[in-house]
Amino acid sequence: MSTDSPLIIALDYPSLDAALCMADRLDPARCRLKVGKELFTRSGPDVLEALHGRGFEVFLDLKFHDIPNTVAGAVEAAAEQGVWMVNVHAAGGRRMMEAARERLERQALNTRLIAVTVLTSMMAEDLAEVGVSVPPADQVERLALLAQESGMHGVVCSAQESARLNALCGGDFLKVTPGIRPSFAQVGDQKRVMTPRDAMAVGSTHLVVGRPVTQAAEPMEALAAIEAELA
Ligand code: C5P
Repeated sequence: MSTDSPLIIALDYPSLDAALCMADRLDPARCRLKVGKELFTRSGPDVLEALHGRGFEVFLDLKFHDIPNTVAGAVEAAAEQGVWMVNVHAAGGRRMMEAARERLERQALNTRLIAVTVLTSMMAEDLAEVGVSVPPADQVERLALLAQESGMHGVVCSAQESARLNALCGGDFLKVTPGIRPSFAQVGDQKRVMTPRDAMAVGSTHLVVGRPVTQAAEPMEALAAIEAELA
């Protein structure tokens, strides 16, 4: 099933059963799902098959970063399993990203391929320690442009970065944004948050929402409340 919704619900669970319990409470016509490293490492491709079987489109958030041939193979494997979106680290460089994109094209696979620029957990001092002495925002812009030149369909970015990246890379370049907190939700451990409406207004194209939906007593009611905020 395909959906027009910009909402991607993060299925951050340590087991297949727990993830499917939540998926069974959500509607594939009204959201997509994100599978990350913990769930995938524990459950393997079974989780993809189970979610696809329930009609969901899946963003496989494994942030590949390796030599070009290895990343191209991993991206191809994800796409062959039918995932809607997969990602790599832009820091892997132009040749790595181009190899991934070319592999998808060669196999006529239409999975969206996006890049992570700078992890939001990295502060200026952390970047300096790994030899990147420019401010984090400059590095984000540099890597977003490199990702675009290398054929990526978009980037993962914070809503604070969306406006700038919209101006720099254009509206068609996907901006997939976590750190979203609907006005009804608690901020929790997220440091810089934005409401769904504000994030879309500044140029995000997709919103990754986890706990505000998955920890709600009624997940579909929480999702409906987000839709209402977006309407
Ligand atoms: O529960 P919450 O809405 O905070 O979940 C956000 C999801 O987005 C989690 O899967 C988290 O790992 C991911 N994420 C994030 N911040 C980033 C990148 C990814 O919160 N910078």
